[in-house]
Amino acid sequence: MQYQTELLTAKSALRQAALLTSAVQKKLLEKDVLEKEDRSPVTVADFGSQAIVNYVLANSFPTDKMIAEEGSEELRKPENEKLFLHLEEEVKKIVPLSGEAILRSIDHGRTDDPKALSRFWTLDPIDGTKGFLRGDHYAIALALIENGEVKAAALACPNMQAPNGETGLLCLASENQKTVFTSLFTDSPNVEATEALNKNFAEAVICESVESGHTSHSRAEKIRESLGVQAEPFRIDSQCKYASVALGLSDIYLRLPKSLEYKEKIWDHAAGYLIVKSAGGSVTDTLGRKVDFSTPPLLENDLGIVASRSVDHAKLIEAVKASA
Ligand code: AMP
Ligand code: MG
Repeated sequence: MQYQTELLTAKSALRQAALLTSAVQKKLLEKDVLEKEDRSPVTVADFGSQAIVNYVLANSFPTDKMIAEEGSEELRKPENEKLFLHLEEEVKKIVPLSGEAILRSIDHGRTDDPKALSRFWTLDPIDGTKGFLRGDHYAIALALIENGEVKAAALACPNMQAPNGETGLLCLASENQKTVFTSLFTDSPNVEATEALNKNFAEAVICESVESGHTSHSRAEKIRESLGVQAEPFRIDSQCKYASVALGLSDIYLRLPKSLEYKEKIWDHAAGYLIVKSAGGSVTDTLGRKVDFSTPPLLENDLGIVASRSVDHAKLIEAVKASA
């Protein structure tokens, strides 16, 4: 089967990264938080996760390029030495990396011309940083893109439940193969996504961001009313939303732009996109267009995201368009 080596490597990379992120989440310290230019919080877990995933990927695919959220610049600043030492301490527990090798691993596979790549990986080392800092849900999202199409995806949701009941969910998907779910931290059998149901909107559950700055809650409310959706919205951080749709815990994921200028980041959607599609769902932008992964690091040609499974996607898009 195609992309099996990629998926096995991705699984190993995410498991090791998640060991670090869950340990760090348990003992979150205020001093680990930096301020990035865009003011989103960056933590030891962010950098550590990226260093580990890149280290594992580089061993199997040394020439592959990587478009990832973080860069080592901030960490190299003398004022962040203490943070770096804490990062090093955590990374060393998982992989044999220290000092400069950690910084190099964070930057591994970087390129100045992402749009020129025919094959690349994209990584969000901690998706849903705000959820992570609150002690809630977050994800580690890794996807392989070739010629603008997502070919393989691994999505770790360390605080969601795996099919065997353990905490720590791993979702895996590749082109032409059904999405499977398994436990993130232990070896257990893969469980295939169930068949999508045929639900009325009245019985559907809509999920959306916890953060009102990332999606319009009021517009989602209008859509909910126009479709007659009964359930209250299910709010959860990160690409765990895609996992919840693929698992059937919710049926619709709405990401409704707060501003027409905002362009979604490729690492915020590539993995979740394939996980939902390969579980029998549909994923488009808010205008019903195919999501275009050929313009990294942004989804330049898309406006927001609408993912669904088990409901009529075309009808959903009509309601989304009418709510604009
Ligand atoms: P979520 O946990 O689904 O709310 O999304 C987290 C992601 O939202 C982060 O990885 C950011 O890249 C992304 N993000 C940051 N600002 C915005 C914004 N204004 N609109 C949409 N997404 C955003
Ligand atoms: Mg993210």
